[in-house]
Amino acid sequence: PYDVLIVGGGPAGAAAAVYAARKGIRTGIASERFGGQVLDTLGIENFVSVKETEGPKFALALEEHVRHYDVDIVNLQRARALRRNGSLVEVDLESGATLKGRTVILSTGARWRTLNVPGEQEYRNKGVTFCPHCDGPLFKGKPVAVVGGGNSGVEAAIDLAGIVKHVTLIEFGAELRADAVLQRKLKSLPNVDVIVNAQTTEVVGDGQKLEALIYRDRASGEDKRLAVEGVFVQIGLVPNTEWLKGSLELSKSGEIVVDARGQTSLAGVFAAGDCTTVPFKQIIIAAGDGAKAALGAFDHLIRS
Ligand code: FAD
Repeated sequence: PYDVLIVGGGPAGAAAAVYAARKGIRTGIASERFGGQVLDTLGIENFVSVKETEGPKFALALEEHVRHYDVDIVNLQRARALRRNGSLVEVDLESGATLKGRTVILSTGARWRTLNVPGEQEYRNKGVTFCPHCDGPLFKGKPVAVVGGGNSGVEAAIDLAGIVKHVTLIEFGAELRADAVLQRKLKSLPNVDVIVNAQTTEVVGDGQKLEALIYRDRASGEDKRLAVEGVFVQIGLVPNTEWLKGSLELSKSGEIVVDARGQTSLAGVFAAGDCTTVPFKQIIIAAGDGAKAALGAFDHLIRS
């Protein structure tokens, strides 16, 4: 068995692997797609000490750093079940194999919920984005839309209002679902409009650049065009934890519940990054969290 078996090869898993391997203990990392979400990211400008890089380049750097150490990398493998068996934790892969660890670190990340409308994929990174912290500054002085009136949508609109020219918040339902305090703040801002009862049906552009969002007014049935250069989709971040249901404690939204050391409800199983209850889903936070979980796992090993 591995001393530390990591499941998930994004920034959290990679950092955990480097920290575990540097303790001289047997470390393995299994992932479906080494690199994780950063593989889908164009520019990264907020990983401190790296002023500017690109997602695939960053993913390669993660892999090179991990390969510099004696770590077993099991790529293109999806985990489907986890259980404790005596002093070991077993992880079943979809290939049929079972990996074993004295400790396990789960770092399976999350995925953004998408609108699934025409143009959304085509204009991804050309105007359609999911991360206000990452991409807000790219839209300085421009009109943008935020889709989604829950807490993350309203927070994004408030955040963006300070950077961009104008924000239109589009909500499908008859009213916003965000906390009252956020809604009050939003209403106080001069450059934000809210449109409720609006179903986003398409995003359109000239092939290179996004030009407008099309929505259906659900009351009148009429299609309307909103001229914007950016669309921030904020309709939910889904943790990749479906396969863990029933084996350890998950929050209402499916995030793995962890303590300050990354320990989950199952002894010897730690978790890090976007798949956990740790707030704010960002590369630097996931990486720091992975380091923390590896140290937590090492501490567990020397005490057991
Ligand atoms: P992930 O990166 O999601 O990695 C999860 C890993 O687990 C992957 O290897 C995946 O294949 C694997 N996995 C999932 N399920 C299984 C399974 N069942 N079995 C085995 N393996 C599995 N953050 C920033 O800080 N700056 C940015 O500029 C930025 N831009 C972004 C742009 C886009 C388009 C997106 C989508 C995200 C962006 N983010 C950005 C967010 C950032 O990418 C995430 O916060 C970060 O990648 C989280 O790291 P993680 O290791 O927790 O998870």
